[in-house]
Amino acid sequence: MLNVVIFGAPGSGKGTQSKLIAEKFNLAHVSTGELCRRAIHNNTHEGVIAKSFIDKGELVPDETIIDMLDAFLEKLPIDQGIIFDGFPRTVAQAEALIEIMQEHGTKVSVLLNLEVEREELLSRLLKRAETEDRSDDNMETIKKRLEVYEEQTLPVIEFYRKKRLYKPIKGVGNIDEIFGRISDVLNELK
Ligand code: AMP
Repeated sequence: MLNVVIFGAPGSGKGTQSKLIAEKFNLAHVSTGELCRRAIHNNTHEGVIAKSFIDKGELVPDETIIDMLDAFLEKLPIDQGIIFDGFPRTVAQAEALIEIMQEHGTKVSVLLNLEVEREELLSRLLKRAETEDRSDDNMETIKKRLEVYEEQTLPVIEFYRKKRLYKPIKGVGNIDEIFGRISDVLNELK
């Protein structure tokens, strides 16, 4: 069973590529950012907690994210492969994912890291701020999210590298080119 983690800084194109991957490889797409936004929209207890962190550009606490993810995964068919978009974002989450996958009788197949330079990320995020109504896409929050990414999320790469599950992907070029690079890697794993 194919279980993919798509990884990268805010603005690296995780969401766009995840949707394409889910469709082509018949995977369930789970975006923890989307789970948070849905919880906020529905004004749930977890949503209230998530909003207070997201609006500051900070990470939502591991426990809250893991609870939301668990609830989502419980509803999936047992043999459904998954693409994880925006999770894990901390080493603690990466460790939790091992256990979660074990409970489902499976494991992570690969982590794809979309590599994009900081200048390009900033310009993409500012452009997205103009077209999407996301409370966390403003200059101050964007800078904070990139800082949080470098401090708390980057160590996740090393975690997967040690397990030999790490694959860097050049994240610049047009959407189809990037998707082609990803497909080449995933076709090898199928
Ligand atoms: P995203 O849509 O993936 O860019 O996520 C938007 C925001 O949701 C992030 O900036 C975080 O505040 C929060 N978030 C999403 N996924 C996670 C996660 N795995 N751990 C902690 N916070 C998260």
